[in-house]
Amino acid sequence: MAVRIDIDALRDAAGAEVCAAADRLTASGQPTEVLPVGGGASGVVHEVGRPPYEVWVGVTADGFTAECDCTAETDCTAETDLCAHAVALTAAALAEGFAWSSTATPQSDPAVDPRVAELTVLARGLPARRLAALVAEWAATDPVWEGALRAQAGQPAPRTAVELDGD
Ligand SMILES: [Zn+2]
Repeated sequence: MAVRIDIDALRDAAGAEVCAAADRLTASGQPTEVLPVGGGASGVVHEVGRPPYEVWVGVTADGFTAECDCTAETDCTAETDLCAHAVALTAAALAEGFAWSSTATPQSDPAVDPRVAELTVLARGLPARRLAALVAEWAATDPVWEGALRAQAGQPAPRTAVELDGD
């Protein structure tokens, strides 16, 4: 079933400061892309001087739900707290007539391998730069990893990976 999202009520809940920051993101064209994920909307917000944040918003059984990388960073446990990224993503999704499901599933749903979950916690504890260096080291030695990294970054697979597939 499709639902509507009341952006005015959302902005009221977020507060003036968050809305002002969200409006700055909207004005700079962030997020550039809104993707349907789990019945909700997902996007990546880029800000100068900050790491990119992946944010998801959707209507779950608990009502409007927002999840953003920035809350993980500050160790905030209140996942429904609205940040500027969530408000900007919602605004972008509404602007393109996004079809919201009333039974969305957040990306962080615990239906993951417990080992992956454990390692995710470990990885989250690393500084972004160290994590990036680690991933880059793996990608440089493993074409599968390199392909996955380039795909996540929106780059086409390198020629070497294609040649290896042809063997
Ligand atoms: Zn955020």
